[in-house]
Amino acid sequence: MRDGRRVNILHLYPQHMNLYGDRGNVLALSQRVRWREMASTVITREAGEPLDWDAVDLVFIGGGEDTHQSRIADDFLMVGPDLSRRLRDGLPMLAICGGFQLMGKYYKTADGQELPGVGFLDVWTEPGNQRAIGDVVTETLLPIEPPSLVGFENHGGRTYLGDRAKPLGLVKLGRGNNGEDGTEGAVQDRVIGTYLHGSLLPKNPHLADLLLSWALQYRGVDQPLEPLPEDEEMDAHETIVARWRK
Ligand code: GLN
Repeated sequence: MRDGRRVNILHLYPQHMNLYGDRGNVLALSQRVRWREMASTVITREAGEPLDWDAVDLVFIGGGEDTHQSRIADDFLMVGPDLSRRLRDGLPMLAICGGFQLMGKYYKTADGQELPGVGFLDVWTEPGNQRAIGDVVTETLLPIEPPSLVGFENHGGRTYLGDRAKPLGLVKLGRGNNGEDGTEGAVQDRVIGTYLHGSLLPKNPHLADLLLSWALQYRGVDQPLEPLPEDEEMDAHETIVARWRK
């Protein structure tokens, strides 16, 4: 029987895939676990390192520059089948920007190199002719309150969604997946891919808690998370939403 008061977070490729404070997502998840007087362990794995998948309750991968994505892409492909099997069983995952792109079928870099992705998400990414940079506000289709998600995007790739991937949200401010269809990010099973850096989770505590509740369910712990005071987190959230309202 596993310990229901502990959440083990796998942080993939923290050395190469960590842009614009993406590591803050792992810190936010761990801190929210600790505030509830539970324990959290962060397992980091770089390319080539061993991993005990049975110890993992939640997976995180951040964004990366094209050169960094190409350094980890082969290893990520190798990890893909083990990872995907568990994702199909309900293991939750958050993938940001460059990590989101590599969870799809392929990512074509700015200089035209095609990096095959893990292929779990039914998405693919083509190079754009202008980088999408700036604040983003979206309205998410996930069952969380408030429905807004906020963050910061900085990407050259344009991501397109196939039938099996649902958008994480609809863009209110910013460009999102491709600047054309009004979508941002993707959700499939309990995998969330998004372009939102920021870090994302400190400013979107409702999304952090959704991921944590999925992680507990994956462990077989069926108990709601205690609510936490969110004043500071929601102040930060509202500051970005206000930029859109203006
Ligand atoms: N290199 C990718 C792009 O430019 C991802 C960038 C990122 O992770 N911020 O689209």
